Amino acid sequence: MSYKIAIDGPSSAGKSTVAKMLAKELGYIYIDTGAMYRAIAYYLIENNIDYNDENKINLVLDNIDVSLDYDKDNNLHVFLNGKDISDKIRTQAVGEAASVSSQFIKVREKLVSLQRKLAEEKSCCMDGRDIASNVLPNANLKIYLTATADCRSYRRYLEEKAKGIDTTLDKVKKEIEERDYRDTHREHNPLVKVEDAVIIDSTDKTPDEVIDYILSRFF
Ligand code: C5P
Repeated sequence: MSYKIAIDGPSSAGKSTVAKMLAKELGYIYIDTGAMYRAIAYYLIENNIDYNDENKINLVLDNIDVSLDYDKDNNLHVFLNGKDISDKIRTQAVGEAASVSSQFIKVREKLVSLQRKLAEEKSCCMDGRDIASNVLPNANLKIYLTATADCRSYRRYLEEKAKGIDTTLDKVKKEIEERDYRDTHREHNPLVKVEDAVIIDSTDKTPDEVIDYILSRFF
């Protein structure tokens, strides 16, 4: 029988790092649902479609094919209409467009059905905002990974600096707060802590410490 792990939480809490490491440790597949919302956002930006405009987005959704694949080292790659766009979706602009366009119901329905299909056959570790509450409500293990807004902002600030992006801690913090607000207040499938989730605060923990805790407690 396949085993499903759902990891939810706010931006920059370390979800994808932890989900990826956990999947590798357990031999499960890793499914990054944020990357799928980012792929749609990337399409909208590339095609000059206003990502705030639900009607316009609905008209083009059938032209967008998002898929995931794994290379020989088991690294996840994201494809948009057959083209590998993994390196192009990690920008602040794409994150912002994903956070806005992901609130629209048709965008969510399209990706949620794909996510459920991907999780059907294999044991997986899936991260996002609505995994335990909506995509995989029967997941065997539900983790809500969080950290203080200051800590998440600082992590994101260091990541952006390392990429050579000219930014300030204040700017990053404001972006994170806006993203948190949108993700937790939207009408469809907002980020919530489900009752049976294990809450892990990664503020003072390294990814290795989070993984060790999960493995020793649940496996
Ligand atoms: O996790 P990541 O920053 O890549 O996600 C980008 C955006 O996609 C999030 O801010 C959120 O609005 C959206 N998202 C979502 N549901 C998910 C995963 C991501 O709405 N399951």
